[in-house]
Amino acid sequence: MIYLDNGATSFHKPPQVHRAVAEAMRRCANPGRGGYRASIEASRQVYQCREEAGKLFGCAPDQVVLTHNCTHGLNLAIRTLIRPGDKVAISGFEHNAVTRPLNALGANLMICGRRLFDPQDTLERFQKALDAGVKAVVCTHVSNVFGYILPIGSISRLCRERGVPMIIDAAQSAGALPIDLAELGAAFIAMPGHKGLLGPQGTGLLLCGTTPEPLLFGGTGSESIRQQMPDFLPDRTEAGTLNVPGIAGLAQGLRYLRHTGIATIAHRERREAKRAAEGLRRLGFQVFSGEAQLGTVSFLPNMDCEEAAQRLADRGIAVRAGLHCAPLAHESAGTLSTGTVRISFGHDSHPTQTQALLQAAAALP
Ligand code: PLP
Repeated sequence: MIYLDNGATSFHKPPQVHRAVAEAMRRCANPGRGGYRASIEASRQVYQCREEAGKLFGCAPDQVVLTHNCTHGLNLAIRTLIRPGDKVAISGFEHNAVTRPLNALGANLMICGRRLFDPQDTLERFQKALDAGVKAVVCTHVSNVFGYILPIGSISRLCRERGVPMIIDAAQSAGALPIDLAELGAAFIAMPGHKGLLGPQGTGLLLCGTTPEPLLFGGTGSESIRQQMPDFLPDRTEAGTLNVPGIAGLAQGLRYLRHTGIATIAHRERREAKRAAEGLRRLGFQVFSGEAQLGTVSFLPNMDCEEAAQRLADRGIAVRAGLHCAPLAHESAGTLSTGTVRISFGHDSHPTQTQALLQAAAALP
């Protein structure tokens, strides 16, 4: 199988990730719950993951909250900063992991920037919303449908100048684009552990520039005498037993990224996305591409998207079709009624994958 669905989750993880998960299952008990070797080893694995994340994302280990996925981190962040009726600026490319929690809260959404691959327009729209007064900004770094890289650094600067807290959804950028919590000055940056960070499913990170409010309440192994959650991070938002095998695997994914260099990964992804876009366009399909694009490309086949993806799957190419949990992005791009077929490259992107994709796509009507 040629795996081109890294936007959903990374599938080919480095072997050290597999090994770390199996090792943790053999050697780790519950972290922070005892002074015996297996509990101490679990604590060590968990701390190592926070430390690796801190090195990659410009923050201290205790600013790294371990979550179940990116959605979990976004819910923590949104529930901390936003109250019913608050005006919140979001981009026109948000995932349901942002829009559903905001809608569930009854936030008043201002949609900023619906033009694909136009960072200047996106920035100007956010500036207008901020000038009109908003309680918070929630913005994706990279669109999961189109690979559009939003001008997150400039938007965060506008937020800092006005003292407006910002939540960044780094689901599609973490592991490929530089992200520095201190430099961005964001209130929160949420990311999955299982996509570009190459960890197992069931892992995620919330980088905290401010202290989040708990979503779950329960045991933490600390301050057990109190009936309130601890005030300090990360315990405040990590109730219950952690996913230690997953976290141990994620630590190895992070370490692999640090050694490989995320710039190398971004270069591979962008190179193959560009080749795929050019090739698909030559085959006569409508392709969504632009300068500000990472490793994800959407296209419109001359047939139903789901059926086209199935035909590609029958030829050994794994891609995703439909709305990709991001109806807002499709509304912005004018593809809400059709969806798109999405190709998303990953850390092991290679020209042979693109060649195989284009060969299979050539057989579509
Ligand atoms: N945000 C974006 C932009 C995504 O692409 C995704 C997943 O595809 C999410 C959030 C949610 O991530 P998770 O499935 O880890 O909760």
